[in-house]
Amino acid sequence: MSELRGVGIGLGVAQGPVVRMAEPVPAPENTPSALGAEAERQRSRDAVETVARELNERGAKAGGSAQDVLEAQAMIAEDPTLQDEVDSRIDAGATAEWAVHDAFASFRATLEAVGGYLGERAADLDDIAQRVLARLRGVDAPGVPDPGHPFVLVARDLAPADTALLDLDQVLALITSDGGPTSHTAILAREKGIVAIVGVADAAALSTGETVIVDAAAGVVTTDPTEEEKDRAAQRAAARAVSDTAPLTPGALADGTLVALLANLGKPADAADAVARGAEGVGLFRTEFLFLSSAQAPTIAQQRQSYRELLAAFPGKKVVVRMLDAGADKPLAFLNDAHEENPALGLRGIRALRASEDILREQLTALAEADAETDADLWVMAPMVATVEETVYFTTLARDYGLKTAGVMVEVPASALLADRVLAHADFASIGTNDLTQYTMAADRMLGSVAGFQDPWHPAVLRLVREVGDAGARLGKPVGICGEAAADPLLAVVLIGLGATSLSMAPSALADVRHTISRRTLDEARTLAEIALAADDATSARNAVVEAATALPSHQKETTS
Ligand code: PEP
Ligand code: MG
Repeated sequence: MSELRGVGIGLGVAQGPVVRMAEPVPAPENTPSALGAEAERQRSRDAVETVARELNERGAKAGGSAQDVLEAQAMIAEDPTLQDEVDSRIDAGATAEWAVHDAFASFRATLEAVGGYLGERAADLDDIAQRVLARLRGVDAPGVPDPGHPFVLVARDLAPADTALLDLDQVLALITSDGGPTSHTAILAREKGIVAIVGVADAAALSTGETVIVDAAAGVVTTDPTEEEKDRAAQRAAARAVSDTAPLTPGALADGTLVALLANLGKPADAADAVARGAEGVGLFRTEFLFLSSAQAPTIAQQRQSYRELLAAFPGKKVVVRMLDAGADKPLAFLNDAHEENPALGLRGIRALRASEDILREQLTALAEADAETDADLWVMAPMVATVEETVYFTTLARDYGLKTAGVMVEVPASALLADRVLAHADFASIGTNDLTQYTMAADRMLGSVAGFQDPWHPAVLRLVREVGDAGARLGKPVGICGEAAADPLLAVVLIGLGATSLSMAPSALADVRHTISRRTLDEARTLAEIALAADDATSARNAVVEAATALPSHQKETTS
């Protein structure tokens, strides 16, 4: 038995035989064209057109966010700048194969140099180039194998086109050696609820036919597992399947303490799925996701329509809308136009909104109008708030627009440390553990090389959460959690023990969290929180809490983490 580590997506566990993805189409030689430029141009155009059409067709078949991803890929394939690059190489005497290979590679290097969100799109270009090359050579595009039995798919990275159409009856789990937690593979795997671990550096060591256990909650692939390990994994998978179909009751601890379980959403169209999974409202609506590709600021009317659609899906329920969080990995062309060396530390979130106050005012106007037309309980909050002064600025402005519940996100250690003063002005706080971890640990959340620091179990992060929880309890103000940490069931219990009054997460995580918190009392949650706080680092905090939770006598063992 040996263990390979990576970043787990979701909380599931699965086991089965490995099947490796076919190797990519080999790079072409740079030999001069025998056909002439005109014919080569035509060949490249035909191939690109066919690939773009296929991507669009696959997107239409998949629907949901997979469709957005695939349509974006089709657009990249047909990008005129890229086509010009291909043509110029062909005009210099290259074959269509070489021109495509070389032009896509140089475009990829440009994206990688930009880094952040665009850097993570670089892998998409490789996939498109491979598809075009396969087309030019008349061979099948590399894709998901079909061995005729269920399998654990192992790949360098999966193209969005492949992830989108994975046959969930056949693919038991997914392991990739590349890709970070924000890569498209990870996003789509999360959405489809596929047990997945990305960034497993040693995945090349896995060979077709060997049996592995894929434990996404722990981010561990176990090779050559013992019978006992296989049984344990099977039991956990079965328990998880039960919790998936459990009744959609409101979030509550074993002693009846209510902890609302809310959804993180990026577009109104995802509301129905969240409702179907029992979301009691929305804890984080990421408005910037609506406008990532817009060159101009959206109009009030455009925004009002989206917000109205969202609010209408949650009559009588709480819906927390975050103002545009532009910058760093989510630049918006109309809010972030200056180059910054360290954009995560730059004009981001409320700072960027303040620098373009018209846009902030328009967003508040659109929200107030949508609120007046619907029956949801709308709360608004500002991202990346670092000071009491910013808190006063935003909450005053929001209330001026008639928005009665105005709060802030706590994502910067400064605002956690002064939470009592921040909450003296804000109606609520919502802790963004993704950024709070990034800024506490000084580790870029997009950077694979420091991914090990991006662990919200770290006691330093938990101590900051406790500051906010204590301040909220003293002042009688709600404290929500809306980072990925809330989706880790056992950590969710700890966060409740630290004072969180609601938890917001990807809808696919709701069932696991609902199940796990229902087995713990508030006193137990507080005890587990103390145990986590007493640890020296994230791994020991997690291990100590797992051990203590397993030993608790009055409730059944954790089954999902
Ligand atoms: C967070 O930082 O935890 C958060 C919820 O916001 P985002 O992930 O959108 O930055
Ligand atoms: Mg954030």
